[in-house]
Amino acid sequence: MTNINPYESTIKQLEKAANIINLDKATLEILSYPKRIVEVRFPVRLDSGEVKVFHGYRIQHNDARGPFKGGIRFHQAVDMNEVKALAFWMSMKCAVMNIPFGGGKGGVTVNPKGLSEAELESLSRAFIKAIAAVIGSRVDVPAPDVNTNPKIMDWMVDEYEKIVGHSEPAVITGKSLDHGGSEGRGIATSLGGKYVLDEAIGKVSLDSGTLKVAIQGLGNVGGNMFKLLGEDKKYQVVAVSDSRGGIVSGAGLDYDKVMGHKKETGSVVGFVGTKEITNEDLLELDVDILIPSALENQITKENVDKIKARLVLELANGPTAPEADEELHNRGVVVVPDILANGGGVTVSYFEWDQNLKNEHWFEKDVFSKLEEVMCSSFNDVWEISKKYRIDLRQAAYVLAIDRISLAMRESAK
Ligand code: GLU
Repeated sequence: MTNINPYESTIKQLEKAANIINLDKATLEILSYPKRIVEVRFPVRLDSGEVKVFHGYRIQHNDARGPFKGGIRFHQAVDMNEVKALAFWMSMKCAVMNIPFGGGKGGVTVNPKGLSEAELESLSRAFIKAIAAVIGSRVDVPAPDVNTNPKIMDWMVDEYEKIVGHSEPAVITGKSLDHGGSEGRGIATSLGGKYVLDEAIGKVSLDSGTLKVAIQGLGNVGGNMFKLLGEDKKYQVVAVSDSRGGIVSGAGLDYDKVMGHKKETGSVVGFVGTKEITNEDLLELDVDILIPSALENQITKENVDKIKARLVLELANGPTAPEADEELHNRGVVVVPDILANGGGVTVSYFEWDQNLKNEHWFEKDVFSKLEEVMCSSFNDVWEISKKYRIDLRQAAYVLAIDRISLAMRESAK
């Protein structure tokens, strides 16, 4: 499952959309490669006194529409092709959301769960030192991603500011509220996904009766989505999973109780009254809505025939491999693509950046209403294109993004 090269998937997606709008060859060639790849090796002193050298990346895909923008991931599976794909998706996502950023991504190959708090801080600071020369609030603005969080962003900004010798909170988004973060940033990806889901079920006539939902992954994004759906009677979450496995219950799962169990034991597995399943089983459950919220390449040509959901909301980046995507479309399964469904995170990152540059602090209700506006109008833009060209939502999102980026590229070449 995991040996699919995610960067090759992006090229396939790009070429398909380029064909539809007859994109010129030069623009297609430029978009097929990152503008700049920074690969670093940097030393970190561990608690034992040993110095270990880590391997990291910052890949800047495109900045025609504004500074490169995208998270930093800490994960043992991080490699060049993954970060290249993630950087490409950020360019597309920011264009679909119509926010003034390009796309970039960073990553360090490490299992952060094996590090102490002090080691994690040293690693975060050392990585920022290694890439400090290529980031900046008007150049490239990192943020959290898988296994990184506001505390890590705070350390990184602090380190960056020491290096440049002045305050520059807008260099990184996703900070804590005490260090220039925005209200609502923590929940933004999930809330944005929920706004899109509410729009989508209306459009595809899925909005009668209670909808059964399975969520794969309970990090910040999956966890908050579980909470939000638990508060809305239209939905019933019947299955969730974390890196150790999953649980299912036809009677539905209570957010507080399940998360309480996870806090106590480290996993949802074993929660009373539920059946234990694997992460793979979760994808194949008989539910209305499937929400992959973990890593890439979960729905592939091996398991696509067994997917029973009628709608897939991609809160993870790249969870559906291209062959599987086509198959889902042919079977009438609606896939709300990552570059639309999970764009709420980077949208509130944009609000945070904007607040930092203007020295403002917005109320949560204003952040949420602006987010809702951006998500709904992006969804409707993508929906209209899918009708106009008779294509699925993913291709429509790419058509919209590539059109907007190529316009900016032509503008900047004048
Ligand atoms: N890591 C998130 C994403 O994949 C957020 C990026 C950001 O806020 O810049 O969209």
